[in-house]
Amino acid sequence: MTIAKIWVVAEVVDGSPTTASLELVSHARTLAGAVEAVVWGEGASTAGILGEYGATTVHDVGDLGGGLPGAPVAASIAAAVAAGTGPDAVLLPATYDGRDVAGRLSVKLDRPVLTNVVGLAEADGGLASQHAIFGGAEILTTRFTSEGPGIFVVRAKSFPAEASGGAPAAVVAAPAPDTGASNAARIVARHVEERTGPKLDEAEVVVSGGRGLGEKENYVLIEQLAGLLHGAAGASRAIVDAGWVPYSHQVGQTGKTVKPTVYMACGISGATQHMVGMKNSKNIVAINKDQDAPIFQVADLGIVGDVHKIIPKLIEAIQARN
Ligand SMILES: Cc1cc2nc3c(=O)[nH]c(=O)nc-3n(C[C@H](O)[C@H](O)[C@H](O)COP(=O)(O)OP(=O)(O)OC[C@H]3O[C@@H](n4cnc5c(N)ncnc54)[C@H](O)[C@@H]3O)c2cc1C
Repeated sequence: MTIAKIWVVAEVVDGSPTTASLELVSHARTLAGAVEAVVWGEGASTAGILGEYGATTVHDVGDLGGGLPGAPVAASIAAAVAAGTGPDAVLLPATYDGRDVAGRLSVKLDRPVLTNVVGLAEADGGLASQHAIFGGAEILTTRFTSEGPGIFVVRAKSFPAEASGGAPAAVVAAPAPDTGASNAARIVARHVEERTGPKLDEAEVVVSGGRGLGEKENYVLIEQLAGLLHGAAGASRAIVDAGWVPYSHQVGQTGKTVKPTVYMACGISGATQHMVGMKNSKNIVAINKDQDAPIFQVADLGIVGDVHKIIPKLIEAIQARN
């Protein structure tokens, strides 16, 4: 392997690294001789699981004192690069904090950032990244041509999260140098959106509704069907923009990427911006009254019909079976 060291900025929520972070650690293992993670807050307590997925060292930025990770985490990584102990590449999940760290790190290192990465492979001694462009209609391969660490912001579900059975990672303190006024913001409140059932981007079954539902009140059919299938309810942007459901339900280019075992698209046309977020699902079922709807191009099972008739029948049949 010609790439010596990759660092993954690993986010920890409720005491566990996020799936997106574990996906990056797993994939980095296939690319570099050493994979190390950068954590903060309670992150060091996850050295065991990060090790299991392939990280050998965890750089702990430490307690952020109620601040955001952007400035201190970027400063900590930049300090390691300046000291000559930094990585050849930094991988970050495409989340609010991941993007914040990437932007600040880019400024500190005077290096560009490659965003919206959906693939990453070794090429000519460096890394070549793939990007979905034009709403996912084209895949572009790109490389850094100048010397210095590459910064890659990677979309969730681009790689599988696979444990390798590694030993717990060694924890190394990596406090940030003084970040001055750039680190002045403090988190004063957190709002956790209420949810029943699995998280949208981790569910095995996702049932999504679109404008074909006709009106907001009909979204209850999607929630009911998702609940009966122990899945999560998703949505197209059209009905998020219309205010029928919150943004957290949105699947697609500007929403979540999902890869469930079963994805059901109900009354969704299949715009490229929607499909880029769900077309890699293992089995796709589409219900649409228009037999020429683009969603049928990616569907494994296409049902031409009215969602208002088909979904209640499906619900009835599942309830009868249960
Ligand atoms: C920069 C950008 C980013 C975007 N990001 C996203 C994104 O992240 N996610 C996303 O979803 N979209 C996104 N969009 C919007 C996207 O282009 C589409 O406008 C949107 O996906 C359409 O949603 P829809 O399929 O629900 O609605 P429509 O396109 O209006 O489709 C409704 C479908 O329902 C069918 N239908 C109507 N009545 C019934 C019925 N009774 N029974 C069965 N079928 C019926 C119709 O035949 C039609 O196919 C983005 C657009 C842009 C420009």
